Amino acid sequence: MSIETSTALKLPPRHSAQQPAAAYLRHGQTPFFRLPVADVERPGSAPYAGADAVLLGVPYDGGVTYQPGARLAPYHVRRTSAFVQTFHTFHEVDVFGTLSALDGGNVAIPPFDARLVRDLVQTEVARIMAAGAVPFLVGGDHSIVLPALRAIASRHGPVAVVHVDAHLDTSDGAVWGDDFHHGTPLRHALEEGLIERGQLHQIAIRASLGSPEEASFGLEHGAHVYPMEDVTAHGVEWIAAEVRRAVGLRNVYLTFDVDAIDPAFAPGTGTPVPGGLTSREAFALLRGLAGINLIGMDLVEVAPSLDHADVTCHLAAHLLYEGLALAALRMA
Ligand code: MN
Ligand code: MN
Repeated sequence: MSIETSTALKLPPRHSAQQPAAAYLRHGQTPFFRLPVADVERPGSAPYAGADAVLLGVPYDGGVTYQPGARLAPYHVRRTSAFVQTFHTFHEVDVFGTLSALDGGNVAIPPFDARLVRDLVQTEVARIMAAGAVPFLVGGDHSIVLPALRAIASRHGPVAVVHVDAHLDTSDGAVWGDDFHHGTPLRHALEEGLIERGQLHQIAIRASLGSPEEASFGLEHGAHVYPMEDVTAHGVEWIAAEVRRAVGLRNVYLTFDVDAIDPAFAPGTGTPVPGGLTSREAFALLRGLAGINLIGMDLVEVAPSLDHADVTCHLAAHLLYEGLALAALRMA
């Protein structure tokens, strides 16, 4: 008598570096997007040798001012990203067939030493770039963008930054008595000269401020702010076109705080602000950036313990995929 379950799963022919779904089903491990996993025991930048892009988990949320939980996002986004396939139907690009991408594992960090975390994140992002790959960080809270930009700028010089967020993230450290948390990274980045003047583009901003001066810091440094009112009045396609024109051929780093998305679409985040982007607007925004020279990205502030039905984790995986598609388009 034949047993139905004895039928071996048939593996389809491989077009991309993605493992077939049946392969990850068999071994039970779910790297980002079913990608090969870097051999992190190899010294220097060798774990990333030959890669065009490396996804790096940063399981740290010691920088949050309200609800924690983002430290577990890399694990959950790995799981949900296994659901994403290689061919991008809008851009018509085989993302993982074009781009040789790896899961670089996580930065191994103590969750209670913020300074050491910053150093270790900066070192690891530098290693990825030294291997010639584009880093894609999966946070973690938004404080990790500062060490990422320190590594980026020490390699490329000051860059253009596209910042999608409900918040400006240029707060004064005095509010909490500590200058380094998820509300201050872009103020440090501007003060340290990591961002080219006039090349900070902040989109979906809508959070209330402690004082009107909080908004003036970025503006004094030449930031372009596209609040939600611009999304309503002009649409995300217009914003994407403005940003694309402004960045031109510059190196662009994309930092995406998932709380830019309306809490109705992204409930799993620590500092939600109503009235944000829909998922569709977020995809249209990133798709509208096709052609930019993307040299790095992060996706931060996903808090799986606050999520429902993996809604935010699935969205996070797809937003990363949109970023990977932008990098793939540059190579296609
Ligand atoms: Mn935010
Ligand atoms: Mn933020």
